[in-house]
Amino acid sequence: MGVKVTRKFVGNKLVLASHNKGKLAEIAAVLAPAGVELIGAGLLNLPEPEETGATCLENALIKARAAVAASSLPALADDTGLEIAALDGWPGVITADIGGPERDHELAMARILERLDGNADTSARFVTVLALCWPDGHVETAEGEVRGRLVHPGRGARGWGYDPYFLPDGETRVFAEMAPGEKNALSHRARAVRALYDKCFT
Ligand code: IMP
Repeated sequence: MGVKVTRKFVGNKLVLASHNKGKLAEIAAVLAPAGVELIGAGLLNLPEPEETGATCLENALIKARAAVAASSLPALADDTGLEIAALDGWPGVITADIGGPERDHELAMARILERLDGNADTSARFVTVLALCWPDGHVETAEGEVRGRLVHPGRGARGWGYDPYFLPDGETRVFAEMAPGEKNALSHRARAVRALYDKCFT
């Protein structure tokens, strides 16, 4: 078997396969020193594919490949899961779905607490997988995680998703009580983007 050589990103245009403006700003900030123009999927009117993968990596690949096919440009996609240790990593790849069609995170937490059934061990991690795909089919990936535990009721007024319920290890404040810059210094997604930056953009 040949040795797989990491491919460096040498272009100046990269599509982010996401319609989330918050993610665009967060990822663009990390990639800025590489002089890369990050173009949001919304700007190109790219369709949002169904996330039918069995893992976060498969979903990131589905999204990145769909954006490459539609734009003929290299594309980056991310997918995140919340993995609860006492529940063998559940909800993982279905983290967004357990809040129902409305993506109601209070409902999602109620489902989690029901499954935990009084277990005081709420240790969990967020993990983000990134897939960077080129039009010739080449793929590079990177991962980032933040470990912590879930708290309920939620606290804080900032952030989104599970931010009111996630207390990172070593911190006294949940993500929703932190300024955006503080959260980004420790977040799973920012760590994944920094790992990809070190791998492909330097
Ligand atoms: P996605 O793959 O980035 O769409 O994330 C999947 C789900 O994980 C989201 O719908 C949120 O429920 C949750 N999630 C991802 N990142 C965060 C975060 O930074 N804070 C809180 N929840 C998050």
